[in-house]
Amino acid sequence: MKLQLIGHDSRYAMEQIQLVLFPAEKVEYAETAFDGDGAVSRLSQGRRWMTASTKITRCGVTHTGIARCAAPGAEESRKRQILRQSYYKAALPFLDAAPSWGALSGVRPTKLVTRELLSGGTRKSADRLLRDVYYVTPARRQLALDAGEASVEAWHRQQDGDISLYVGIPFCPTRCIYCSFVSAAIEKQRHLLDPYLCALEQEIHAAAQGLLDHPRRIRTVYIGGGTPTTLSACQLSRLLDTLHREFDLSGCLELTVEAGRPDTLDPEKLHALKAGGATRISINPQTMDDRVLAIMGRSHSSSDILRAYEQAIQAGHRDINMDLIAGLPGDTPEGFHRTLDQVLALSPASITVHTLALKKAATLYYENKAVLPSADDVEQMLQAGNSALRRENYRSYYLYRQKYMTGSFENVGWCRHGFENLYNIYMMEEMHSILSLGAGGMTKIVSGGKISRISNPKYPQEYIRDIQSIMTRKREVSL
Ligand code: SF4
Repeated sequence: MKLQLIGHDSRYAMEQIQLVLFPAEKVEYAETAFDGDGAVSRLSQGRRWMTASTKITRCGVTHTGIARCAAPGAEESRKRQILRQSYYKAALPFLDAAPSWGALSGVRPTKLVTRELLSGGTRKSADRLLRDVYYVTPARRQLALDAGEASVEAWHRQQDGDISLYVGIPFCPTRCIYCSFVSAAIEKQRHLLDPYLCALEQEIHAAAQGLLDHPRRIRTVYIGGGTPTTLSACQLSRLLDTLHREFDLSGCLELTVEAGRPDTLDPEKLHALKAGGATRISINPQTMDDRVLAIMGRSHSSSDILRAYEQAIQAGHRDINMDLIAGLPGDTPEGFHRTLDQVLALSPASITVHTLALKKAATLYYENKAVLPSADDVEQMLQAGNSALRRENYRSYYLYRQKYMTGSFENVGWCRHGFENLYNIYMMEEMHSILSLGAGGMTKIVSGGKISRISNPKYPQEYIRDIQSIMTRKREVSL
């Protein structure tokens, strides 16, 4: 869809709002006037008012949206706001329904609420901001407000110079068809496990050496993947011992291990995690429907999930998260609610509800999408799911949006009081630096309101091959 900008150059803001509202269409910039379909965004300034107007034409029909603000002293961010508002107003008549996140285009809507609350605002003023400036629907406002309040609590539990640690284990028992992570099915890559762990230990050592020069308090640790519990009990113990030996974890509030797939879990591993200091694990059914599990390429059943959960309790784990996905191929609103009921019956400390986002790295992307539930069905799953979770005393404590997807859905972490996963909040709200280790790790340095990134190679083979240069960089990184 064409996009022409007149009187301003807020390309990024306009491109983002267009992509969010018309996710199926690529943005093509038009430098000159054009006939036919497209959007023209104009900014003009008078003595008293700055006016943004957007004209959108589709299939011969044109709608115009206008927004304005006081001209004297209008900041750049305010200009971008009225530009987005005018685009949103012009686009609305072309959409089937008002978008749930209104004119918000960012993936981290909670940040707005957190900023408002930390700068002296109240829940009411944050609600007004989401409603009047961004046109967010009531259901999404409640999610963002609850998560914003949890973020403020997390903010007060850190101090200047705190960091978190992420460790990636990019291996899984088999590959799920919707997966877009870099994760290798273990059958083909088992020979890489030991060399990978050796390289990872070297990087851990180099990073710990680097921290000697710039001491930082490590507030949270997250071991993710892939599925870290693809490692044996012995390998998991070794990894956890290495982390405790190399880093000072005395100020660390939580250590999470993704124990995602039940087909990787047994009592020995679950005890090894507990003994190694894991304070939180995540056992992720995604669905409790065996038919849907089989479609996804999972090599386990729902009874394996129940068994793994019971074994985790026996091993002494109390803070257990369970991930679900709304919108899996072959699933229905009724099926999703049955899944949620079964998971709620276990009463885990937290439940994360994702919505399926198909990315190009996923096998499913290239296969028949007809089996996917419609956006309306996914909305039904989420709405009823949110009500059920609230009834059971879970609150949304962090969330992020799926970008450029039909329906513009979000992934939401829900938890019982006191079981917020701080790592998820610090990472999503970009509250402090994240030191990432392992293949695919993205170190994020948050400093003076700016964020810079250093990435490790994506694949285990490259990571093992390049470990010497990765270590050199890690020794020098200044968080
Ligand atoms: S378990 Fe997770 S990381 Fe592994 S293949 Fe499935 S979706 Fe990807």
